[in-house]
Amino acid sequence: MQPRPLLAGNWKMNGLAASAGELQKIIAGAPDLKADVLVCPPFTLIARFAEAARHSPVMIGGQDCHAEPFGAHTGDIAAEMLADAGAGAVILGHSERRVDHHETDAEVRAKTRAAWRAGLIAIVCVGESRKERDGGRTQEVVGRQLAGSLPERAEAGRLVIAYEPIWAIGTGLTPTPADIAEVHGFIRRWLATRFPGQGEAVRILYGGSVKPANAKELLTVPGVDGALVGGASLKAEDFLAIGAVYR
Ligand code: PEP
Repeated sequence: MQPRPLLAGNWKMNGLAASAGELQKIIAGAPDLKADVLVCPPFTLIARFAEAARHSPVMIGGQDCHAEPFGAHTGDIAAEMLADAGAGAVILGHSERRVDHHETDAEVRAKTRAAWRAGLIAIVCVGESRKERDGGRTQEVVGRQLAGSLPERAEAGRLVIAYEPIWAIGTGLTPTPADIAEVHGFIRRWLATRFPGQGEAVRILYGGSVKPANAKELLTVPGVDGALVGGASLKAEDFLAIGAVYR
């Protein structure tokens, strides 16, 4: 049985207090979708958004957390702080963090453990570069990221994998449906082997230039359990138009 889809928005470093209006529109549209809806704004908006979404089906999440619960880590945010602010999930190992902040698989694994320690759903991102895809190394790279970034045990309800080819993020480029099906199939087999009894039900999202115009083509690919949406999640209208695939 296919798990309930997840439509997740990654706002990245976008959003001010005035963006609350977009959240309100998402809250208004979410009940029409047969999908879980998650909005991940910057840290500064999490508490405000969580309060606004409290009696709605929309969950609020973070975009990163530190592995430690507290301490001398200037500028960092603990998973417990996200939970305390009202977040229910956190994106981990996004390629922008792996590249810009040199995050390693081992760090992502420690952060995944931290997310679970705080009771959050961990959305762990994996994906190959253009060079790796052209070199026929996609499965090798994604398999290595999964092996290094995930703890030894996992609960299906607490883990989500986002397959995000780096070359598709924010570029308008997307893999073919056949390529997405192949990688999602590979990830599913990997999860089922590594976490028997749980890996079969972990949601595997596709992310990378999902827009209203291509949502149907990309999100109805067998093995795709939802989307992690960047740019198009900033406008409620576009985000909900993508979610309309799940009406
Ligand atoms: C992302 O950054 O997670 C993402 C998928 O971005 P975009 O949709 O803008 O490609």
